[in-house]
This record gives sequence, structure tokens and C-alpha cells, in this order.
Amino acid sequence: MTDRSAPSASRREFVGGLALGLGGLVASATMAGAQTPEIPNAPTGRPQPELETTPPGPADQRLGWAVIGLGDFAQGYALPALARARASRVAGLVSGNPDKLRSVGSQYGVPEAARFGYDRMGDMRDEAAIDVAYVITPNSTHAELVVKAFEAGKHVMCEKPMATSSADCQRMIDAARAADRKLMVAYRAHFEPSNVKLKEMLDAGELGDVLFANSDHHRPLEPSLPRDQWRMKKALAGGGSLVDIGIYSLNGLIWFLGELPNRVSATIVQPPGDARFAEVEDIAAAQLEFPSGKRIHISSGYQANKKRIDLFGSKATAVLDPATAYGGNRLRVTQPEGTLEVLVETPSAEQFTREIDHLSHAIREGGEVLTPGEMGLRDLRLIEAIYRSAEIGQPVDLAPDMTMKG
Ligand code: NAD
Repeated sequence: MTDRSAPSASRREFVGGLALGLGGLVASATMAGAQTPEIPNAPTGRPQPELETTPPGPADQRLGWAVIGLGDFAQGYALPALARARASRVAGLVSGNPDKLRSVGSQYGVPEAARFGYDRMGDMRDEAAIDVAYVITPNSTHAELVVKAFEAGKHVMCEKPMATSSADCQRMIDAARAADRKLMVAYRAHFEPSNVKLKEMLDAGELGDVLFANSDHHRPLEPSLPRDQWRMKKALAGGGSLVDIGIYSLNGLIWFLGELPNRVSATIVQPPGDARFAEVEDIAAAQLEFPSGKRIHISSGYQANKKRIDLFGSKATAVLDPATAYGGNRLRVTQPEGTLEVLVETPSAEQFTREIDHLSHAIREGGEVLTPGEMGLRDLRLIEAIYRSAEIGQPVDLAPDMTMKG
């Protein structure tokens, strides 16, 4: 197998391959993930946690971003990433909670004039320091807030899923066109180093023909957490595990295979008597068929904890596990000779700033965004087809634009 982007022992290490006599390494690699490590009594060191490595760029070279919605993901990941970004910076905040506006505003040095309630979002128009609005609210609110941001003259990054219906996605795309502004969907895996590396290997033919792939995205839904309470409401979330995390399987495999499906067969599970799943599904499982004959299988769920992608190629198989975690994603490739861990130099955690800076660069330099609104619309159409197939218990055929046939 050749690695066009700098093969070296430091970047790719064999972690498997009994055939190569590396069985000991297989064992240690496997055990490390599975066991609770022993903590010694004596003072000691431990590995450096995964951190972003590059400092932010100069303030005057960064576009101003307003974060809309100051919940779990915004405060835990988006705002810290914006503060570290090289081409972007925090310039505004929108929240319905004045206390949060005050505390988060002072934490990130956002002037009072650039802190808005949802009812005053239109006033962002007068804030010249804000170039981009980043919408990070419950799924069903995305469309209205994105349209408002375009009406205020801003570019938009919208969290996934783009909306809760394809009709809303279309409305958002139309608003972007009318405002002549960019619309990007926050599909961070397209900027995650191990995912990007796998895509490069696929495009270089290193896995051979990939006729089958599998992806599973599961995480426990926790009803005691505010961030998961709206996820149990169909009107706010638009669906269950499929729209929340199954979308990573769908979007990721279509990206990796570079082809769109023409038929989907699906099933969903809403365990009876479980209040978490009174309105939305726990499990969604779907098989998608492609015109070339390829097949993929995806599953999502709200009880287990697994984020994994498997690609079965004629020359090699590839496993991303975890595939789409916030940090520490791992890519392993297996050939007849053994299993190779593909080490990438950039930490997974840089996916957030890479994603954000990608949009800032596209705005500044006039380039295309890699994950545009049209991709979000396509995925919502597929999600609608998956739910339809599960509802009727039959396969659903898809037109080339991913609308349902018949
Ligand atoms: P959250 O509940 O923690 O945050 C949502 C925020 O929106 C809260 O501050 C809440 O006050 C506000 N809000 C506005 N209108 C609301 C309403 N009508 N009901 C409830 N809250 C309302 O949720 P979160 O986990 O941060 O998710 C927010 C969005 O970000 C979702 O679209 C989710 O899919 C997305 N997300 C993306 C990633 C990723 O990795 N890209 C990770 C987590 C969440």
C-alpha cells in the first residue's frame, strides 16, 4: 500500500498482523482500549491529552462570528474553537437567557452591543463586526434562525441536522441565495484528520473497490440533561437517533463512496413503555443500494456507545473507531499482511477550528464550501426516505436528487 502523503514509520505503525509476528502489539493495542488503566501510587507522568496545537491568528485577520444559542455544544466546543481559530473570532452572541449573555459575553470579550436576545436578532445587521452567524439551537429552530441571520446580511454556519424537513432546508437555501451569502452545514467529520486521511486513501485507490460499508452511531440519551430533553420531542428534534447521530453514518459513507444511493430499506425501533422513546426512535437501521451495485448498512441508537465506520475494499479494509468522536479518532487498515494504524499528525480536536476557518476562508477568498446547504438538503431527503421506508415496511426508490420516487 502506498501513502502519497508522506508514508513514514512515525505516521503509520503496524499495530496488528500476526502474520508479521506482531501479535504482542495487537494484544497491547486491543487491551489499551478495553481495560481500565492501573493508576500507580507513586508520582508519575501520563500521556499529553489531545490538544489543538496551533495558536489563534491576529484578531484583525479573523472574521467575526456570532454564536446563536449558548447550550452544551456551543459552550463546550464551538466557542472554545472560535477562540482558538486562525481566521475566525467570537464577535457576537444570541441567547434567550440574559444571565448567559452576560457571563459568556464577558468570558469571550463580546461587547454588550453585540449581545442579542432571539427577538433582537435582526439588530445584528447594524453590527459590522459580525460577518457570520453560527446557529447551534434545537433542530426545529434552525430554519427560522438561519433565515433571520441571512435577512440581517450575515453568512451562516448551521449545525446538523440542517433542519427537520427538506422543505425547511430548501427555504434556507433560497434565503442564502436571496441574500447572496454562504450557507454551510456543520459536518465536522469532513475536517477531522483521520476521516480526511481515509478519504484521500479511498480516492487514491488504496482500498481497491469498496462494494460494502457499514457504519454505526450510537450514544446513550440522558433524560436528566437539558440538552437531551428536547431530543425526546419530535417537534423539536425532528426524529430520534437517526437525525442526531445516524446522520454521521449517512453523510460519511456517501462522502467516502462518492456516490448517491437509489434505494433504501429501513426499520426503526421505539421500545414500548420507555418514556424516552414515546415520540422518537431509539434504533434506526437502514440498507442503502447504489446504482453501481454497492451496498451500505447504517445503524443508530440511543442506548449503546459506539461511533464506527467500516469500509470493505478489494485490497484492504478500513476501520474508523471511533470515527466521529470529538477527539481521539483512530483509523486502522487491514491487508492480508496485517493491520496498520494510520497515524495523522493533526489532532482530531482540530476538526472544530478547521471547520470554522474553512467557512471564513471561503467567505474571504470567495471559494466554495465543502459542506453546503445543498448537502444538508440531500441528507434530509434521505432521512425522510428512511423514515418512509420504515413506516411502510417497503424499500423506497430514490430519484437522483434524493427525492422519493412514486
Ligand atoms: P443544548 O440543548 O445544549 O443547546 C441548545 C441551546 O438552544 C440552549 O442554549 C437553549 O437554551 C437554546 N434554545 C433556543 N430555543 C430553544 C427551544 N425552543 N428549546 C430548547 N432550547 C432552545 O443542545 P446541543 O446539544 O448544544 O445541540 C444544539 C444543536 O447543535 C443541535 O442542532 C445539535 O444537533 C447540534 N450539535 C452538534 C454537534 C456536533 O458535533 N456538530 C454536537 C452536539 C450538538
